Amino acid sequence: MPQSIPVAVLGATGSVGQRFISLLENHPLFKVTALAASDRSVGQPYAQACHWLLPEPMPAWARDMVVVPCLPEAMDARIVFSALPTDLAKDLEPRFAQAGFAVCSNASSYRRAEDVPLLLPEVNADHIGLVRSQRQARGWSGCILTNPNCTSTGLTVALKALQDAFGLKRVFAVSLQALSGAGYPGIPSVDIIDNVIPNIGDEEDKVEWEPRKMLGKLGPDSIALAQVKFSAHTNRVAVIDGHVVCTSVELGREVSPEEAVRALRAYQAPAAARALHSAPRPAIVVRDEADRPQPRLDRMTGQGMTTVVGRVRVDPLLHLKFVVLSHNTIRGAAGGSIYNAELLVAEKLL
Ligand code: NAP
Repeated sequence: MPQSIPVAVLGATGSVGQRFISLLENHPLFKVTALAASDRSVGQPYAQACHWLLPEPMPAWARDMVVVPCLPEAMDARIVFSALPTDLAKDLEPRFAQAGFAVCSNASSYRRAEDVPLLLPEVNADHIGLVRSQRQARGWSGCILTNPNCTSTGLTVALKALQDAFGLKRVFAVSLQALSGAGYPGIPSVDIIDNVIPNIGDEEDKVEWEPRKMLGKLGPDSIALAQVKFSAHTNRVAVIDGHVVCTSVELGREVSPEEAVRALRAYQAPAAARALHSAPRPAIVVRDEADRPQPRLDRMTGQGMTTVVGRVRVDPLLHLKFVVLSHNTIRGAAGGSIYNAELLVAEKLL
């Protein structure tokens, strides 16, 4: 077993930060050496600063760790997992990369930067190669890697399987997004109980753009965006965890639902990403039942890392329609960042 790599979590007390703490317990490569958050929490033991939301107990090693400020000089680590709000991440993440840390970020601040990989290792592991040009262009020894918004995550995994098998031209997607995607404490209960909120900030723009980068081709120092047209509607619903995306697609040719299901089930991550600790096993599960996937029943498939697809059928407007489910704070956030970090280490880019 290699020696543990010291890692820190920025935004450790939040919705995504807590997932990091939980998923990093007993990780074979990484050992948490610092937990960082805002002035509200700094100086307090983690157990006191954090309103723990997960059903599993807070790991014992985290309870007494004293929360430190989000500053490079406040921690001794090689990798920082960032679960910071976007505006803060924009300012702080480059400071960490400059100081030599590999930043694995959940924030949207650098997803569109030409030299920053936007990664789902089971889709575009090769895009991690951008780290080399990023280091060269920016003159820093660290780096920034990003994962996509949690709605694009499962959607893009399913689309990649179809794109590889049949080609992909147009996508129409309607999301039903869980409450944990809005962070903690998130949306007031009186606003969301008995309700659907048909607007989530700039989420639609993200869902229409981010998959095109991930489904695009790696060039010498940037990604050529996939020539796929997207239209998205994004909605907040009263579910705790697990984003559902109802999707219609136009493919390169007409395809029967049976053929599409075979392609989805056969899909495998690129070899470089298949054996990593957090790799979803399998990448995609297709449910046959007429009423699945459902967040409550299916979000923990593959320990929350597997993309679950169901209801694959003919679409009278485009070619096919189906439903995708992905766990937003695991595959769509903390689990995804950890998977990216494992790829960075495996590719000897740390
Ligand atoms: P959250 O629950 O609101 O947590 C925010 C975290 O940032 C807390 O730990 C908070 O610390 C810390 N923080 C806030 N202001 C700070 C400051 N001025 N200085 C230092 N730390 C500060 O948010 P979240 O849902 O975990 O989201 C974190 C990031 O991940 C966001 O960029 C979000 O867009 C992205 N993301 C979230 C999801 C999801 O499903 N939730 C999925 C993908 C991506 P205190 O507790 O001390 O205030």
